[in-house]
Amino acid sequence: MSVRSPIDGGILAHLRPHSSEELSKAIARAHDAWQVWRTVPAPARGELVRLLGQELRAEKQALGQLISLEAGKITSEGLGEVQEMIDICDFAVGLSRQLYGLTIASERPGHRMLETWHPLGVVGVITAFNFPMAVWAWNTALALVCGDAVIWKPSEKTPLCALACQAVFERAMARYEAGPAHLSQVLIGGREAGELLVDDPRVALVSATGSTRMGREVGPRVARRFGRVLLELGGNNAVIVTPNADLDLAVRGIAFAAVGTAGQRCTSTRRLIVHRSVSEQLVERLKQVYGKLRIGNPLQEGTLLGPLVDRASFEAMQTALDAARAQGGRVSGGERVLEDEFASAYYVRPAIVEMDSQTDTVRQETFAPILYVLRYEDLSEALALQNDVPQGLSSAIFSNDLRETEEFLSVSGSDCGIANVNIGTSGAEIGGAFGGDKETGGGRESGSDAWRAYMRRATNTINYSRELPLAQGVKFDL
Ligand code: NAD
Repeated sequence: MSVRSPIDGGILAHLRPHSSEELSKAIARAHDAWQVWRTVPAPARGELVRLLGQELRAEKQALGQLISLEAGKITSEGLGEVQEMIDICDFAVGLSRQLYGLTIASERPGHRMLETWHPLGVVGVITAFNFPMAVWAWNTALALVCGDAVIWKPSEKTPLCALACQAVFERAMARYEAGPAHLSQVLIGGREAGELLVDDPRVALVSATGSTRMGREVGPRVARRFGRVLLELGGNNAVIVTPNADLDLAVRGIAFAAVGTAGQRCTSTRRLIVHRSVSEQLVERLKQVYGKLRIGNPLQEGTLLGPLVDRASFEAMQTALDAARAQGGRVSGGERVLEDEFASAYYVRPAIVEMDSQTDTVRQETFAPILYVLRYEDLSEALALQNDVPQGLSSAIFSNDLRETEEFLSVSGSDCGIANVNIGTSGAEIGGAFGGDKETGGGRESGSDAWRAYMRRATNTINYSRELPLAQGVKFDL
């Protein structure tokens, strides 16, 4: 397997993929590790994650640089991704003392009901190229405090990031001393390696991040063996801008969310739904900002827009732009740039495409910096457009009108897992549950009570009386 850098298309490394026998052995080792790890008290498991957070802090610069090299993110986004790993470790350490169950009122005298949460087993983590480290950390920090073992199948485009994280994990493990070996393992390979995790009944939870196409295959396969899935799939995220919005804020928020990571975030803004009265002004300002963006080597200071991940990604962008043109779209930008300097890499000017209606092309996720502009007259029309896509990940409204923002957040407002006011669609904090509905897959990771996906729940009824009353008044006199 050759690993290429999107910065210049150069080869970074050659790796040998793991065989299916190696993968099967790894799952067996993870299963053994889990059987020991689940008996370690959760706060003591938290100590391992605390050490992992320390090791990540110590290597923040190097890890961030590797993300830039292998995934093409600009320096500050690479460092931001490492910070996200550190943050989730901190969160998980606190969580290790808070894996709360409930006590529940029993209808029977002398009885007590409660629920307890137990470690689930082996967690298979399949990740996408665009967050080559953070998604592993979201899953692993929680899974470890929840008492599970993890096997990670990273994207075939970013295996070096995975090997680096594993090396950092091994350092934390060496300092921890007490835990079983093989709590976290990395498997190098493509889709076939992912499929082995998906089909193996020893893998209790498959947490898969990637395209909706991938989720459509993974979901039913895991369901067939009654395994659990956590799916984090594509998004088609919109920003609504209303007549009294702060346009300075809106321009900045939209530009970062639409162009950041070269439009290759699951939460990237792909659609702008703007009120007709401010649309000319806003689109003109966005075009000016787009015209001045510094595009180039993401490791160079001042660069705001790095490369697309590969040629296929560039071609998918051009196909979408051609289709949008055929559907009446007016395209500005979108062309390849810096071809002379980087003949084997794909840098593009981000595109703004003004559409008369929300066509099939607009309703698809194209993983590139394309911002479709749609205009509306009243908010109910904007909300209908916002929700009329198959995906349901992230959304935002820019407005200073309380009625508008509350309507957007209400039951009849945005149908996305993430709904923001006066900030863009991307750049979530780890404290909240992350994920979305519809074709985004329904999974929730990271903060809030996302930890529950990594544990199994048992409901316990305890009788401390000398009688044996049956629930619902049922009589069974012997
Ligand atoms: P991808 O679907 O091509 O690959 C993702 C991972 O799935 C890779 O590791 C790949 O090897 C594996 N895979 C592919 N087919 C598989 C199968 N049939 N069985 C098992 N594993 C399989 O996605 P990508 O191009 O790497 O990433 C971009 C996509 O990921 C976008 O759609 C983006 O929106 C999505 N994404 C979603 C989130 C989220 O949290 N919702 C986060 C990041 C990326």
